[in-house]
Amino acid sequence: MKSLRAALVTVALLQTSLAFLFGKEFYDKTLTQKLSLNPGTSESLLLPFNTTRVPGSVSSAKLQSFIRKHFEALQSDWLIEPMQFTENNVNFANLVFTLGRNASSYLMLAAHYDSKKSPVGFIGATDSAASCAILLYISEFVDSIQNEISVGLDELYWEESRGLKIVFFDGEEALDTWTPEDSIYGAKNLASLWEKDGTIQKIEAMVLLDLLGSKDNVTVPSYFEQSDMMYRKLADIKEQNADKLPFKQNLLNVSERKFLEAKRIFVEDDHIPFWKYGIPVLHLIPIPFPSYWHTKEDDFSNLDESKIRTWAILLCELVYDILD
Ligand SMILES: [Zn+2]
Repeated sequence: MKSLRAALVTVALLQTSLAFLFGKEFYDKTLTQKLSLNPGTSESLLLPFNTTRVPGSVSSAKLQSFIRKHFEALQSDWLIEPMQFTENNVNFANLVFTLGRNASSYLMLAAHYDSKKSPVGFIGATDSAASCAILLYISEFVDSIQNEISVGLDELYWEESRGLKIVFFDGEEALDTWTPEDSIYGAKNLASLWEKDGTIQKIEAMVLLDLLGSKDNVTVPSYFEQSDMMYRKLADIKEQNADKLPFKQNLLNVSERKFLEAKRIFVEDDHIPFWKYGIPVLHLIPIPFPSYWHTKEDDFSNLDESKIRTWAILLCELVYDILD
């Protein structure tokens, strides 16, 4: 088993194969349409999220089925696990998709798909519809290059390799007012299940996407020393391919080091239970939050699709590098 952190150090030092994938047809053909706000006749990974997604609701169930069907249509052998549970009389469902079911370790990518109960009609375009669409895109990308990264080969191979877990959390938002008890229902449930079955030991790193894709000029700092290598890798990819990326301005704020140096959690989110287990967390959430955070203005008219596409490209590159 390769150590993820050791691998990242090597990558950062050698600057190997950065932008290897930028010439790939995959981006040109599909990225623009699939993550566009006006996809025309092509299949959209983004627009199905333009709905309320309150836990236990009919629209949440419809969206779960959309996400599930996306993975069922992929070519590789994805393990599909809807994980339902009930708490406070609400039915929640995390959706977990695993590539490499016998892998010895995993990179975990996650976002929450639920939306806030109030204000009524709240969409949560940045919170976190756009992040979920990016995860769907990454899954398709990994699926499409499976031979290059040895994904989808026989199980024997996987036993010595790193797999990928993509998680869509339910119940990130508070049902009433945010407290440690009334929030991140899905993340707490999954972390405790994974502690019991030993999966938690196999999670080498977690990348959590939240509040991405806003039209506001907000950037993401590095929050944790344990994931700073991954953060800087993303920043390198952004900088070295600035002319090729759809969004030219900054997405990351590399000079902001105060969160990282404080060595504690500033932004409460789905990573908390995993961070408590010592898993390195790359938390991709801007500070400040978008100005319309938790208001009805967090709708699809306030998304910037060039930002969403740029995040998707950067994360595909990062995932490729880690799994390769
Ligand atoms: Zn929120």
